[in-house]
Formats: sequence, structure tokens, C-alpha cells
Amino acid sequence: MTVAIPPSLPHDLVTGVDTVVFDVVGTLLEPAPSVSEAYKNSSEKFGVTLSSSEISKRFSVAWEKQESLDAQNTPAFSTSRSREYERWQQIVCDVFEDSLAADKIFEDLWIHFGKSSSWRPVEQGCRLLETVRESGIDVAVASNFDERLLPLAKHIEPLIRIEKIFASSELGWRKPAPQFFQAVESRLQKEPDQLLLVGDDPRLDIAAANAAGWKSMRIG
Ligand SMILES: [Mg+2]
Repeated sequence: MTVAIPPSLPHDLVTGVDTVVFDVVGTLLEPAPSVSEAYKNSSEKFGVTLSSSEISKRFSVAWEKQESLDAQNTPAFSTSRSREYERWQQIVCDVFEDSLAADKIFEDLWIHFGKSSSWRPVEQGCRLLETVRESGIDVAVASNFDERLLPLAKHIEPLIRIEKIFASSELGWRKPAPQFFQAVESRLQKEPDQLLLVGDDPRLDIAAANAAGWKSMRIG
């Protein structure tokens, strides 16, 4: 069951739900400055000049390439800390077309996106999180973000007060793999129909959660 744009928590949707699991990027947090601005700022430190719009275009292509590689993995969308590190390294190398500075830009960006100052809260998601809390339902976080999420979460609202935080690199699976959702069920010791995923991505969050037998709610 899926609803769009939740100003509140629809009663029929949360009936039987024990825990609402939030996605992170685009749901609770967003990069500030934007990804393309962050890439531009970082590359300029190392003498590489590329417009934000060109970076944005190349980033989308590079991102999709890594998604396809993960889809072709056996098993599909299995992951690890090293795979997530390699994913971002490849994306940065593709964006800057293997420039000699690409490794340095990558290292700089890896640190940048692990800092709380590089992110800001998404108002709609944060309001919904508060509503869920007030209704007495448990909250958790499950994200395709990698190991950097765990230390980051200790320093940034609204993650700072959430105890159950799961990152793909630690679960061994990325969304949309059904195993990602099963791993969260197992960590939370819940059945699929006790869980509701809140996310911004129609395919990775909503369709994947529904396929796993979870309820879902899309924001954004
Ligand atoms: Mg997201």
C-alpha cells in the first residue's frame, strides 16, 4: 500500500505497523551544497574546472553505471564496505574522466560527505518522523548510504536520537534487493507486515519495500 505526500500519518496505513523505517538521502537529509556544487568545489581545489551542469550530467550517467553493475552482480545488489568505497571512487573517476587529480578529488569528497556540515534536514521527512514518534510507533533508519552513515548519525539531527540505523555496507545488501529488507527484519526481529518504509525513491524505496511485503509511504 502506497500513499503520496503525507502531511500526517494515515491511520489505516499504520494499523499493525510496529516500526517505521526511514530512508536517509532525500528523505531525512539532503546534501547542502548540492552534489554537483560539492564536486565542483572539490575539483577546483585540485585545479580541475568543470561546470555544475556538466558535473550533474556526468554524475547521473556514472551513478546509473554503478547501479547496473550492482544489478548484474551475483547475487544482485550484494555489497560490502569495499564495494561501496569502490562505487564512489568509480563515480568520481567517471565524472572527472580519470583526470590525474581524480584520486585526490575522490578522497576529498569521501571526507566531505561524511561530515555533518555537508548535509541539511529534509523538512517534510523530519516532520513525519516527529509525527511517528508522537504516535508511539518505533522508528529506525535503513539506507543505501555506506559505513560513513554510522558516525555521521551521531552528529546530525534528526538521526542523532535514532538508535536503530542500518547501512547497506553493513547489511551486505543494497536496496532494491529483497535481502536488504530481510536483513532489516532480522535485525529488528519483525515480520514484513509490521514494517513501513518511508522513502523518496519510487523504485529503490517504494516498489522494493512493497515487493518485500512491507508497507510504504513516499515523500518528496
Ligand atoms: Mg533516498
